[in-house]
Amino acid sequence: MKGLLPFLLVLLSAVSVVAQQARTKVTVARWPQDRSAAISLTFDDAMATHLDIAGPILKKHRLNGTFFVSTGLGMWEKRKGEWEQLAKDGNELGDHTVHHPCLLPEIEPHSQDYSPEMMQAEIRDSARAVSEVVPRQRGLTFAYPCGDLSFGPPADQAKNSVLYLKFVAEYAFGARISGPGGTQDPDDISVLAITDLGSTEKKDFSGLLAMADPAVQQHQWGVFCFHGIGGEYLSVSASAFDELAAYLDAHREIWTAPFGDVVRYIQERKSAVIEIHEKGGGSVDVALSWPLDSQIYDLPLTLKVEVTGDVKEVTAMADGDYLQARVMKQNDSVVALVDVPPNIKVVHIASAAR
Ligand SMILES: [Zn+2]
Repeated sequence: MKGLLPFLLVLLSAVSVVAQQARTKVTVARWPQDRSAAISLTFDDAMATHLDIAGPILKKHRLNGTFFVSTGLGMWEKRKGEWEQLAKDGNELGDHTVHHPCLLPEIEPHSQDYSPEMMQAEIRDSARAVSEVVPRQRGLTFAYPCGDLSFGPPADQAKNSVLYLKFVAEYAFGARISGPGGTQDPDDISVLAITDLGSTEKKDFSGLLAMADPAVQQHQWGVFCFHGIGGEYLSVSASAFDELAAYLDAHREIWTAPFGDVVRYIQERKSAVIEIHEKGGGSVDVALSWPLDSQIYDLPLTLKVEVTGDVKEVTAMADGDYLQARVMKQNDSVVALVDVPPNIKVVHIASAAR
């Protein structure tokens, strides 16, 4: 015991020296503002209840969804101004072909009867129709009718599946399939085959919440696919949807965002290159770049700055202006979350010792 005491003292003082040296670690947060998970609410087929019921519920709870519209099924043409208003409210309009060709025998038109030229026209013409209403250059997303990844007679379906992806890639930067369902790991998405959470038909609020739960628990992305809301086909009740929206409104630690925005953030984060230059005195310069089309990939990335040591405050500056930093104390470190717009190339981060 006698011999151990000096050793302990040396060890303690070494620890305190380390604690006084501020160490800065910078990463890109998994989700914007380091939220716990991402949820997207998507609606297929351009249905009347999307305009009459889903849109108003989203607005009431300050949420935005993605409407994958089929532009040749009637409801698009008939109520174009209302679809436009939905987009103006912050919702995304995506491409779901003109006539919804599908391999399912009970749904018409049958995509077994389609040639490659016909399928390409389906995707192209609805992309154009949507782009006329949403005249922005942010790019489009796509959802495959019936979740099918091919078309044409069985003999051609293997080679046509390659063509289908090629046509989609010409008009979309991200696409959703539908099927058995599952959460999406942002580090491992297939950008033209993002799966949904499975069938929502007749699910009540607790059933819908149970579908979202694995994504929330595992910090992943869950994509709901809805059809009718409070009526029409494959529907959920208006009250079940309203309760889900109220829940997401009350749980802002979950990032509820349009499908395309989640694809944008995932791709920006994955392609971001960060270089950190120590400037001394507890400050660092963070050089940021991501080699993506900034017209489409226009979301800010959240830098997560972790400073260990006895730190009082953390500030972030770019181009001579302060960037908003949300600063939190976590055990023996300070964490600052800084949203960096795409045009910013260098962020100067300074931490002041206590
Ligand atoms: Zn559909």
